Amino acid sequence: MTETVFTRQPHLSPLSDAERAEILENPGFGDVFTDHMVSIDWTWDEDGGRWHDARVEPYGLLSLDPSAAVLHYGQEIFEGLKAYRHADGSVWTFRPEANAARLNRSAQRLALPELPEELFLDSLREIVAADRDWVPSGDGQSLYLRPFMFASEAFLGVRPAKQVRYMVIASPAGNYFGGELKPVSIWVSREYARAGRGGMGAAKTGGNYAASLLPQLQAAQQGADQVVFLDQYHDDSVEELGGMNVFFVFRDGRIVTPELTGTILEGVTRSSILQLARDMGLAVEERRITLAEWAEGVRSGEIAEVFACGTAAVVTPIGRLLDGDDVIESAGGTEVTLRIRRELLGIQTGAVEDRHGWLRRLV
Ligand SMILES: *Cc1c(COP(=O)(O)O)cnc(C)c1O
Repeated sequence: MTETVFTRQPHLSPLSDAERAEILENPGFGDVFTDHMVSIDWTWDEDGGRWHDARVEPYGLLSLDPSAAVLHYGQEIFEGLKAYRHADGSVWTFRPEANAARLNRSAQRLALPELPEELFLDSLREIVAADRDWVPSGDGQSLYLRPFMFASEAFLGVRPAKQVRYMVIASPAGNYFGGELKPVSIWVSREYARAGRGGMGAAKTGGNYAASLLPQLQAAQQGADQVVFLDQYHDDSVEELGGMNVFFVFRDGRIVTPELTGTILEGVTRSSILQLARDMGLAVEERRITLAEWAEGVRSGEIAEVFACGTAAVVTPIGRLLDGDDVIESAGGTEVTLRIRRELLGIQTGAVEDRHGWLRRLV
């Protein structure tokens, strides 16, 4: 295979050092974007299609035909990972091959073209090289990378698009849920699911998020921070939050997370935590866990901690659970949750030894 060369068109008026420094002091999450973006186009042909015109350009508006398939049929997938600045100034990311593989699993489900892993990794190196000064160095800070792919073809017929674009944008990030690590409250959606049998639940696609917005709004109306979805096969077992996986820490040293059923998104954080938990000597179980077991476990004290995890928020304790008129109070503990969070963040930021070879240097 020939190596893809990126053309580089630098931004002519990037933000000044002072303006950037002010943003990096308190970047929030997903509000501000760096000076550049990466694009690669794909065009279908008789041989299956090819990626071409890889480029780094100034960040800016897209020009899209109003009939572009993504705007009508939602043929879109995305990824999310973070770049961390280490103490020596170098910039690293965490298990990007896992994101590359997941992007391609999502692509397969949505009939989008697969992107070669090397091109995915190159696209991350390119944007971080162009915007390396945007990688913050503060505690809990990172540069959030958002690769995504969408059907750009102008065509209203219903079939997989023959013109597709892959892009990467980047956004400096602080802590997802604000400064302190306060437990989030959760509300059970009994009316809606984010995914169903044979659907797109295991794919990282905007459509699943669209399905989660109304229940998320309902959760907020009930005074909860996040919505939790139930397994549609059984209707009584926990699946995941709108964008995060869930873990239960038992007093006897077991750690349980819902098994992958095809409707749950396979988080890179989830799989990393399963490994770190094994390293810590915890017994790991991937299985169904019902709301009744959650409630009973918290009441009896058998479940000591509950937490959510994902790239954006890393690891966040879950406090109370609202299910209609029932309230399951917080499990209370955070010892294992915080240990896992410290360990994971430590590896990502270079403060803890990378025993599993998870880090990849970007610049
Ligand atoms: C991205 C995502 C997660 C978390 O995955 P990570 O790879 O850990 O960031 C969990 N659930 C859903 C629905 C997601 O989209």
